[in-house]
Amino acid sequence: MKWTSINQELQKENNISVVMHALRANDRCTRIGLSEITGLTQASITKIVAQLIEWGVVSEVDSVGVGVGRKAICLHLNSEKYHAVSVRINRKYINLAIYDMDGRLYDMEQCEISFLDGAQVSMDHMIARLKDMLARFGRTVQCIGVAVPGPFNYKTGRISLMSGFPGWNEIDIKGQLEDAFHRPVYIDHDANCGALAEMWYSNADNVSDMLFICADRGIGAGLILNSSLYRGSYGFAGEFGHASINIFGPRCECGNRGCLELFGSTVALENAYRQEVFNPLKPNSLLGHIPAGEILARVRSGEPAACNAYAKTVGYLCFGVVGLINALNPGTVVFADKIINGGDLFLSVVHESFKQYLMPEIYKNLNVKLCELDGDPMLLGASVLAFDQMLRNPLTYLKP
Ligand SMILES: [Zn+2]
Repeated sequence: MKWTSINQELQKENNISVVMHALRANDRCTRIGLSEITGLTQASITKIVAQLIEWGVVSEVDSVGVGVGRKAICLHLNSEKYHAVSVRINRKYINLAIYDMDGRLYDMEQCEISFLDGAQVSMDHMIARLKDMLARFGRTVQCIGVAVPGPFNYKTGRISLMSGFPGWNEIDIKGQLEDAFHRPVYIDHDANCGALAEMWYSNADNVSDMLFICADRGIGAGLILNSSLYRGSYGFAGEFGHASINIFGPRCECGNRGCLELFGSTVALENAYRQEVFNPLKPNSLLGHIPAGEILARVRSGEPAACNAYAKTVGYLCFGVVGLINALNPGTVVFADKIINGGDLFLSVVHESFKQYLMPEIYKNLNVKLCELDGDPMLLGASVLAFDQMLRNPLTYLKP
């Protein structure tokens, strides 16, 4: 009997959660509409909606005609009442923001970090800046979401390796943030966060089976399969930046040889550009380090050496993505992060590569696009990660 009652509670919470997710994605839906979307009976919907109105989570707004002389009242999830702190940890900076559940940005700042200071100093700096941000905001924040570079172990909640910034694997990010802010903290791989943001906020079609490719200094993919984020058994799904594309290639920080990151990342772009412009007959042909941001600007202005290096780098990236497409057959591939900032050349190289490497039937049915979400999609996605957990546990987070 005990199990029955537990299951009934779980079932009840699950049904509330289903209704809230449906309302979030379909603003101003009617009760009849909710019943059609969720598959729950109209009687169940009426009961759940009454409960949510009582809690102040949902409001009745205007009404629409549903037949001759009949009106149905529309419902609105009061998303603007709920706020999350969003954090995106990167190798060179940490982005901090506050969003509401509609994706509205309230505050944002970036703090520079350096591996020379170490991970704990960066973490302390981030916590201090977040405290200032929350003091400025002055309103309640329900939860904290954090996007981190992979490989990230979802089970232990720890970054396994941050190439170019040792020490993060020893930091208990969740524990330290919970101690400092007394709010639930959720952490995930940045590509997973980006995929969640794309699923919640973009207008793209066919996102129920989607690859969200993130490429900057590291490369990772968020996998949306059957409308859910797929993490694999430890959270490493989509960690294809350390899949080798050349077993005789150079040694990677992860210990493997010829990882995709060594050929298709912005670090690889910097190396490829150096090779393009270096002339052994003119030892001063390349002075100093040209950062990826500057090379991408040169690509957009059409500089041949920059365009050659970029086409080569993006071609390698696509070669890696093709393996994932063949394994998963997604409907949509979305590219995001710094690597996409080379103007029209990016998508033209992607299409050329996919046409070359994919079977015609797979390529023909594939929707390929750039992420068009404003600002930093991975930062926005960290808030979605946290809000999604709130909606999954309404009795814990939303019941007054
Ligand atoms: Zn590697």
